[in-house]
Amino acid sequence: MKDIRLGRTGIVVPQNTFGARPIQRVTKDEAVALLHRAYDGGMRFFDTARAYSDSEEKVGAAFSAMRDKVYISTKTTASDEKHFWDDLHTSLTLLKTDYIDIYQLHCVPECYGEEHELYQAMIKAKEQGKIRHIGITAHKIGVAEDIVRSGLYETLQFPFSYLASDREIKLARDCAANDIGFIAMKGLSGGLLTNADACMAFMRDFEVLPIWGIQKQEELSDWLRFFEEDISMTDEIRDFIRRDRESLLGEFCRGCGYCMPCTVGITINQCARMSLMLRRAPSHVWLSEHWQNEMMKIGSCVDCGICKTRCPYELDIPSLIRKNLADYREILAGKPV
Ligand code: SF4
Ligand code: SF4
Repeated sequence: MKDIRLGRTGIVVPQNTFGARPIQRVTKDEAVALLHRAYDGGMRFFDTARAYSDSEEKVGAAFSAMRDKVYISTKTTASDEKHFWDDLHTSLTLLKTDYIDIYQLHCVPECYGEEHELYQAMIKAKEQGKIRHIGITAHKIGVAEDIVRSGLYETLQFPFSYLASDREIKLARDCAANDIGFIAMKGLSGGLLTNADACMAFMRDFEVLPIWGIQKQEELSDWLRFFEEDISMTDEIRDFIRRDRESLLGEFCRGCGYCMPCTVGITINQCARMSLMLRRAPSHVWLSEHWQNEMMKIGSCVDCGICKTRCPYELDIPSLIRKNLADYREILAGKPV
């Protein structure tokens, strides 16, 4: 397994790490068992966030007794200094630690400069030893490019998978050239990519640290096996990626959920990509009574447009969900998937 040096943080860890957002959906005992097995299998870097409900508490329960053996990154969505400190102290308490390896401003709408109160708060927190490194996460490419140009942040977390555009690939290379650690989120593009070999082989060609979102033991097994059998790009995998990119590139929903909540309760992050999920995952799951009811809610969209203002990919959500509903209705009426 290749090691990655996260830019000027100097942190060096295997290029195979744990995204702790999905452990919100399992019990504390299950989460702790999953995290311990990840550590035993070779993972050393664990990424969570204040916004992921009880994820930090579970990470704290797993690693407080072995804090110096792992790197933990977490995030704050604070928009002012008071909430920054409230969040930081809550994270330290829940993680049962007195320092955070990388503290990240979460999903920023713009690059916060040196004079910004949140950046100043980061500097103070670092001086106090409460955080070791200053990181940031973004979903918009222009914002991410501004962050790299600013030179202020030690790490950048950004969506990165084998669906990346040339501009996104340049971003990853620019981070390496500027000694900024690149943490790759959404390496499976929100569940759309299902070939772990292809996803991992793609990452191997870059100086990026993928954080795989993991909820189940089977998912963890998929990633831990790369500690036993290392993988690199082959002609066969390259050909698979080329074909998959051709079938997916364009305007599609990554399932991130930043557009929610919807004014009328539509589950946008699944309904806006239903056509893809029906064709890329076992379709019976998405044709259940539950999902039929969820899809029919699209009919009540009032075109308020709030979701569009929140989507980092600037998708025309009302139009996209209606297209998905039309396709879904045809499939229910017998169109082959
Ligand atoms: S435009 Fe439609 S889908 Fe978007 S928030 Fe409003 S009601 Fe929900
Ligand atoms: S519509 Fe946009 S914000 Fe909403 S889940 Fe999809 S990609 Fe994310």
